[in-house]
Amino acid sequence: MDIERLAKSVRNIPDFPIPGIQFKDVTTLFKSSEILRELVDGISEMYKDKGITKVVGIESRGFILGPLVADRLNAGFVPIRKPGKLPAATFEESYEKEYGLDVIQIHQDAINKDDTVLLHDDLLATGGTMVAAVNLMKKFNPRKIYVNFLIELEELNGRALFDPEVEVTSIIKFDI
Ligand code: AMP
Repeated sequence: MDIERLAKSVRNIPDFPIPGIQFKDVTTLFKSSEILRELVDGISEMYKDKGITKVVGIESRGFILGPLVADRLNAGFVPIRKPGKLPAATFEESYEKEYGLDVIQIHQDAINKDDTVLLHDDLLATGGTMVAAVNLMKKFNPRKIYVNFLIELEELNGRALFDPEVEVTSIIKFDI
């Protein structure tokens, strides 16, 4: 992967959705057929020997690369969604956001203990969302949990929140 080219292709939107946030817009990566393929090839290559059986994507930008990578890895795809979206029985986790609590849910029959899981989301900021997703995964006691982000905002040090046994990778790293 040409990381410099990838980084240059992410669009920065200042003060979105609220003042003070520099929003990383990944649609500018995905709209390029070349870059989309480079990302799917690159991420799949990183995990091809890990025995991944399920790729788990977080709503909603984890639903873009997640299924494409799952297909390459011959794995299934499982969504983690916001409350009230999944129709069958769910497990849920809540986590602190800047303003109040947020909740994510997964179907109770989505994962089993023989699965090796790759969790994927577009961006690691404070880490709150993905730590909650890892906690959801732990309820299933899978063989191993891997975590991948397309983008990591290194200055926020979200990576420090993860247990050492959870392997965390990111493709594009930004200072802010
Ligand atoms: P966090 O829980 O703080 O790591 O936030 C991660 C979630 O919020 C991801 O699902 C991102 O899509 C979104 N997010 C947080 N900060 C940004 C940002 N600066 N640009 C784009 N998305 C963001």
